[in-house]
Amino acid sequence: MTNANQWAVKADRIIDGTIGPVLNDGVVVVDGDRIASVGPQSTTVLPRDVYAFDAGNRTIMPGMIDAHVHMLSTGGNSGGDESRAMSDHQAILQGAQNSLMALKSGLTTVRDCGDRNFLSLTLRDSIASGQIPGPRMLCSGPVITSTAGQLWWNSIECDTTDELRHAVRTLVKNGVDFIKMMGSGGNATPGSNPEASQYDAEGYYAVAEDAHRMGKKVAVHVHGVEAIRMAVDAGMDTLEHVPFRADGTIKYNDQIVQDIVDKGLIVSLAMPATWYRLTEEDMRDTRAHPGHLWETRYDSIRRMHAAGVKLVVSSDQGSTGTRIDELPLLAAFLVNDVGLPAADVIYGMTGLSAEALGMEDQIGTLEPGKLADILILDGDPLADIGALKNVQKGILGGQTVASEGAINLH
Ligand SMILES: [Zn+2]
Repeated sequence: MTNANQWAVKADRIIDGTIGPVLNDGVVVVDGDRIASVGPQSTTVLPRDVYAFDAGNRTIMPGMIDAHVHMLSTGGNSGGDESRAMSDHQAILQGAQNSLMALKSGLTTVRDCGDRNFLSLTLRDSIASGQIPGPRMLCSGPVITSTAGQLWWNSIECDTTDELRHAVRTLVKNGVDFIKMMGSGGNATPGSNPEASQYDAEGYYAVAEDAHRMGKKVAVHVHGVEAIRMAVDAGMDTLEHVPFRADGTIKYNDQIVQDIVDKGLIVSLAMPATWYRLTEEDMRDTRAHPGHLWETRYDSIRRMHAAGVKLVVSSDQGSTGTRIDELPLLAAFLVNDVGLPAADVIYGMTGLSAEALGMEDQIGTLEPGKLADILILDGDPLADIGALKNVQKGILGGQTVASEGAINLH
């Protein structure tokens, strides 16, 4: 029997986005927008007339997921200042350009962790309706922050528990996919304090409880130990950044990390290009940037990994100097400089990242029934993580969206 919607792709190796072993000489069969089967070429019987593309000595893997981006921002070296200076019209066009770059670089899903005026939702819906090409998007809309707090120019400012609850409800009413809360201050906002929590414990509980009641996850930006502690206690779904800052240094906390593991919470690293590409000179945008703490954090990342924390590899694109196509550079940094295993880094941007988004039953792995978000890479990223940059073909929901650096317009 022939099914016109079916096609297949074979390759020497398939990384399926789970923590399982690599499948050598494998074949993925796609039916419409879904994966029909994944298995060895030797035992997979392809229906007659099914088109089978042989990718040879390439790697098949799931489309990459960046769980922390700001699609309306430039990714220039003065990202924060540039974003504040843009009109809404410019911002939405910037989002469209980032959408194309995302597809070219192998991203098939992104989670936008903070926009202004709900513009990212317009981008999300334009992509979903086929108006412009781009990755699947989940959007928080504006962040929740305190008055004058981290990223206040893209926020709903809240200071009391009642205001926090009202903001969560307002965001849900406007159609956001999840809630982004700024638990602590951050480097990008003059006058905010990265080490201090912007809310008391009750505020975190209120946001988590109200969001979860309405079926939404919460991503919480936390730099300081105090804020991390309160976010963990409140059961926030994804903890963004988590550098354990206190008293001008890094104070890694074993008990908090154990609680993160026991509760099954996810740490989304959200590490911008300041880690792997930019020099101090480049960092005009980041006031009081604690550059001397960078290397200290390598060790805390290794210790979280060793303790069994679920580490999602995310870029914080749009923050200082970080472009939408730079997630593979972060992956290379984590493997080559921090020393994490390549398999775990790839899992952190596929299967685990899908879990962070609450979409693990739809995307992130190559398994029957999931959406056919597939990359074909030159090389083997397990042997050389730099191969993540070599996207030969990007497939989104069964459709080829990028081929050898060019975008397919449907
Ligand atoms: Zn961010």
